Amino acid sequence: MANVKKRVFSFGGGKSDGRATMRELLGGKGAGLHEMTKMGIPVPPGFTISTDVCTYFDGHGGRYPKGLEKDVSKALLRLEKNIGKRFGNAANPLLVSVRSGARESMPGMMDTVLNLGLNDGTVNGLIARTNNPRFAYDSYRRFVQMYGDVVLGLKPTERHERDPFEVILERKKEDRGIRFDTELTEEDLKELVAEFKAEIKSKLGKEFPEDPQEQLWGAIGAVFGSWKNDRAIAYRELYHIPHSWGTAVNVQTMVFGNMGDKCATGVAFTRNPATGEKELYGEFLVNAQGEDVVAGIRTPRPIAELKEAMPKAHGELVRLCKVLEKRYQDMQDIEFTIEDEKLWMLQTRAAKRTGFAAVRIAVDMVEERIISKKEALLRIDANQLNQLLQPIFDHQDKKRADDEGLVLAKGLPAGPGAASGRIVFHAEDAQEWKKQGQRVVLCRVETSPEDIRGIEAAQGILTARGGMTSHAALVARQMGKVCVVGCEALNVDYAAREMHVKGSVLKEGDWISVDGSSGEVIHGELKTLPSEIARVLIDRTLGPKESRVYQQFSKLMKWADEIRKIGVRTNADQPRQAEITRAFGGEGIGLCRTEHMFFEGERISAVREMILAGDEAGRRRALDKLLPMQKGDFKEILKVMGKLPVTIRTLDPPLHEFLPKTHEEIAELARVISVPVESLQEKVETLQEVNPMLGHRGCRLGISFPEITEMQTRAIFQAACELRKEGVDPFPEVMIPLVGSPEELGAQREIVERIAQETIKEYGVKVRYLIGTMVELPRACLVADKIALQAEFFSFGTNDLTQTCLGLSRDDAGKFLPNYISKGLMSQDPFVSIDQDGVGSLMRLAIDKGRKARRTLEIGVCGEHGGDPRSVIFCHQIGLNYVSCSPYRVPVAKLAAAQAAIKGKNK
Ligand code: PEP
Ligand code: MG
Repeated sequence: MANVKKRVFSFGGGKSDGRATMRELLGGKGAGLHEMTKMGIPVPPGFTISTDVCTYFDGHGGRYPKGLEKDVSKALLRLEKNIGKRFGNAANPLLVSVRSGARESMPGMMDTVLNLGLNDGTVNGLIARTNNPRFAYDSYRRFVQMYGDVVLGLKPTERHERDPFEVILERKKEDRGIRFDTELTEEDLKELVAEFKAEIKSKLGKEFPEDPQEQLWGAIGAVFGSWKNDRAIAYRELYHIPHSWGTAVNVQTMVFGNMGDKCATGVAFTRNPATGEKELYGEFLVNAQGEDVVAGIRTPRPIAELKEAMPKAHGELVRLCKVLEKRYQDMQDIEFTIEDEKLWMLQTRAAKRTGFAAVRIAVDMVEERIISKKEALLRIDANQLNQLLQPIFDHQDKKRADDEGLVLAKGLPAGPGAASGRIVFHAEDAQEWKKQGQRVVLCRVETSPEDIRGIEAAQGILTARGGMTSHAALVARQMGKVCVVGCEALNVDYAAREMHVKGSVLKEGDWISVDGSSGEVIHGELKTLPSEIARVLIDRTLGPKESRVYQQFSKLMKWADEIRKIGVRTNADQPRQAEITRAFGGEGIGLCRTEHMFFEGERISAVREMILAGDEAGRRRALDKLLPMQKGDFKEILKVMGKLPVTIRTLDPPLHEFLPKTHEEIAELARVISVPVESLQEKVETLQEVNPMLGHRGCRLGISFPEITEMQTRAIFQAACELRKEGVDPFPEVMIPLVGSPEELGAQREIVERIAQETIKEYGVKVRYLIGTMVELPRACLVADKIALQAEFFSFGTNDLTQTCLGLSRDDAGKFLPNYISKGLMSQDPFVSIDQDGVGSLMRLAIDKGRKARRTLEIGVCGEHGGDPRSVIFCHQIGLNYVSCSPYRVPVAKLAAAQAAIKGKNK
């Protein structure tokens, strides 16, 4: 006989078929129930139908595998024997709950049915057994209501429609002149049962099933089916939980928290899930069932009050919380019910927590010798570390805004944190207003490199267009700015200096708040608080000893540094960003985009003069003006970074990005550089490109105009030589962008080498340096062996490599990628997390070929992916030397790197 896999697992009476490690098959809730039973903890007995059945159910049009009915019958029989009650028996009925439970908890996303097994016959048995008719009818009306909603599907169809059962319930309370459900009498509840059933019949045209077997299978099917409901799907997408996992179904004997004043139900956390503080935290309700706590019909009481209300049960709960936390070595989220003062545990699982709580609990647990440092590092979702670094909205003020309906729209959360300011629509205004001491939020249809100063001046950036790797997002993240992009609901009218958002008109100077962690755009000013870590490390307005959050954060970072193998550098092009890099313990700069330096003050005029010059001599004259400024920039950055490597990239973007756009700007420039407006206009037009991303940019510029590369190299080495004389030992790495062939790199390398040597000789000092290239074109990967002969290092520009590998414009993808993702055609945005199959294969190939040709080749990544935890783990796995990310993401990258090292997937 074929070996049929076990599908139904019983638990009860101190024995269970499963255990804690069987989460895959039993789901988190199921595994917890089995384990608690084994541990001798009071758990109402029951059985779990495995996640495999859900997978089968999904793949076979809602049918069950052969033999499942028999398995469930057997488990039910075992349960009846265990508990001494019979399912469907009118004299002594067994009632059950039917609950979902996936491998990873998905709180509230799937369905549950309670009090199952009640009908017009069994309700009498329940009355006889409990001598409590009101309780029996309360349970019955809850059951009909829940079953009608979850299994039969009687629920509102329109957004503004009210729940049909709630309408009947409200009417009943109004008729009786009462406010609370608890005031309904036995008679009222009995009537409600009949009215609910009648509603089901009239709206759905079918009878409420009286047969408990039919009820049971209806509920099992509904719970399995709820794996595919919209909110469960959305939740899985958000948290990258595979759709293939499926949920288990737990069928469990009911215990009743609604049987009178000696009964209660509640939720407890073994530590505070918001702050991580070591305290029992939770809420309970007397004379209630589980859903009353979450539904907010009655305000639950803090768990501390349980001590007075039911001291024995409270004592037992405190004891069991300790036992469970010790067993699982993690903060637990516990559901309990007290029936006649006896405590029953209904669930234990690892609790969800904020970033703050995650760090505190991990560090505390190491100090309490509960877990190892490695385990502590694995416990924290690296992205969550960001929460500790960002300014935050004052919780109460945010709640007020929610309550007052001030949330206007939602965009893409591109740069986390909270910012409030006055609306400005132009970068210059942002600078101007800031000078006058105003806080501003820069609101644009989209941003361009020219807005950089305005971005810096603003508290937050909000754009109607653009994706997560749009310029605004990239620059904002690098600066640690709060940023929401692609907020399509915004209708910006620059001329009128106002924007329309879903019926509201917001004018320049009005207050607005943006939440870069959620993407929310809120009308008005909300209070914000700077992060303690930034105050200690960057602003230095708080002593390290004064901040517990900082102390725990720094311990965690130290552990991460001890264990990780891959280096962490930053993308930084301003001295302030270099300082932040040092403050967070970044190990160098992996990408200094020199073009960002071209936008300040008079420089832009010199840059424009260079671009528009008719010949080489004219260009050289303009470049001579830029040289001291670039040298000054490099010197400051190199000085801050000391001995650490600083990778400086030669000019990359297409030249026309630097040109004036409006007629007024062109006229002004023509006046400054003394050329006729018409000829300037013509020149600007000839520089426009149809597809600039694949046009005259990257090393192609340095090849067309070698004098630009010469000037930039000279600036780098003059800065380095001067510093050398001042006793600093700088380490520049010159990087050539958008290289596709060894010939291109060779040509640029020759210039860099020549100017470097010349300059070093001039100063008579020794300077360490490397010359290398960005790898951001598929061809560069394919011929990486040949390119490596010309390069001492590679740095993957995964923004462009993603764009060119997938043929997907990084500026336009935001328009259609979300649709791909929601249709399951793509599991994640490849500009956020490296497309490991595609882009990742090119990377592996380039690494392999590159290192074969040059054993010592240093390889990093400097695309935005360098700050994405999953991409960092991938980079560790394929053997990169470092990742480079925005300065504020250093802690995230370090933690992800440590996690990668611990998981030991170094291939
Ligand atoms: C890249 O393409 O990944 C990169 C870092 O360069 P940029 O974003 O400046 O094009
Ligand atoms: Mg690039």
